[in-house]
Amino acid sequence: MSTPFDDDHLHEECGIFGVFRHPDAARHVALGLHALQHRGQEAAGIVAFDGARFQGHRAMGHVGDIFESDRVMSSLAGSSAIGHVRYATFGGTILRNVQPLFADLAFGGFAVAHNGNLTNAMALRRQLVQAGCIFQSTSDTEVILHLIATSDAHGEVDRLIDALRKVQGAYSLVALTDRMMVGVRDPLGVRPLVIGRIGEGAYILASETCALDIIGADFIRDVEPGEIVLISDQGLTSTKPFPHLRPRSCIFEHIYFARPDSVVDGRSVYDVRKRIGAELAREAGVAADVVIPVPDSGVPGAIGYAAEAGIPFELGIIRNHYVGRTFIEPTQQIRNLGVKLKHNANRLQIAGKRVVLVDDSIVRGTTSLKIVQMVRDAGAAEVHMRIASPPTTHSCFYGVDTPERSQLLAASHDIGGMCRFIQADSLAFVSMDGLYRAMGERGRNDAVPQFCDACFTGDYPIALTDHWGGDDGRSLQLSLLTESA
Ligand code: AMP
Repeated sequence: MSTPFDDDHLHEECGIFGVFRHPDAARHVALGLHALQHRGQEAAGIVAFDGARFQGHRAMGHVGDIFESDRVMSSLAGSSAIGHVRYATFGGTILRNVQPLFADLAFGGFAVAHNGNLTNAMALRRQLVQAGCIFQSTSDTEVILHLIATSDAHGEVDRLIDALRKVQGAYSLVALTDRMMVGVRDPLGVRPLVIGRIGEGAYILASETCALDIIGADFIRDVEPGEIVLISDQGLTSTKPFPHLRPRSCIFEHIYFARPDSVVDGRSVYDVRKRIGAELAREAGVAADVVIPVPDSGVPGAIGYAAEAGIPFELGIIRNHYVGRTFIEPTQQIRNLGVKLKHNANRLQIAGKRVVLVDDSIVRGTTSLKIVQMVRDAGAAEVHMRIASPPTTHSCFYGVDTPERSQLLAASHDIGGMCRFIQADSLAFVSMDGLYRAMGERGRNDAVPQFCDACFTGDYPIALTDHWGGDDGRSLQLSLLTESA
């Protein structure tokens, strides 16, 4: 059974944003976080530095609500600031986990926010606690903070490098000291991070390019896998202190997680999704009268499918935008209800027609089951489900919020079994090679895969130390959670 700690710890999925040398840094960070809201709707925080003091504000809720008040924004004065949005999890959420975290270290103040998940955080935490560190939260970020605090290296940069050499996992992070902003991408570049510029020499770091657009910043480049960028009054310098590895950025960012108006590692997310839809139409076409997306995630894939198949595209399901994502609701019962709150059939586009439904992924199968039923109730003659990703057979331990394996429909059912479960007339997923072709590759090179696709293959490119090791770290953290509940 999963514990609140597992959920809290294994499913961190976030957005990060930083501004350096801009007179209105924190307001720009709030805007950037607003554009990254899809990466985390549970909580958000900003820490700003005004040349003398660090000021922070962190709270549960949406960016627009948390940073609405002028009093809050005025308190975040200064020309540099970093911020974070955090994804809802199933439990164990406490305000102390909300980032950015801040500590006064030997070299001065240090604020840090990260997106992703460390896979040896429990093991490191156990060592740190045994060495006397006192943890305030259950977040992985605090492990990084303690590693920096206890490092023997000199200066903040060498301490950070020393700390990051000890961690395993998939992460992008932004940090702020009294003289620089730092951006880091893990050695495989699993999670994204981009550099932008605005105005007279202000630098931006952001999880996605859509967050540069909202403040009118220019995209400069992606932070490279394994790269640490140091942004100070002297400009931007860069170092790559980790052993070089072949990059394996997360393919699921392109399928579902990133916003379609973002460009991730040089690829337009929207174009990739359309191309996946076209691959699906070629690989698994079916005679039909209309192609209908499951909004919003299925829209670009359905556009690509419809264009390739020469079948009309219609908005046959309308989404109500004023409810949260059904995926994150805590119980199955609420999830079932949630999907009805969220989607409604546009009957005139469906009645009497053979429908191809396109969605980006099937996780538990709950959404597909409900949507197929809804489309049948609206009078569809046939319902064919097409999924713009391969079957999700494995959990993600690198920062995407997939449930544990036992809850993944594709982990226990073959395609026929899944089709019966969702009660469709037919079901097909894009192939791995089709997905890689949509990403602009020739196909999946099994010997040297170009992306992290562990959720579809079980090929985990980063050691899962905490999962293979003992449970001491876990019991330490559980006692912390109980104390703070
Ligand atoms: P399910 O009902 O569990 O099969 O969920 C499938 C739906 O969840 C799909 O429509 C996806 O768009 C969406 N989805 C897939 N992965 C995630 C994720 N990591 N976080 C939130 N939603 C997701």
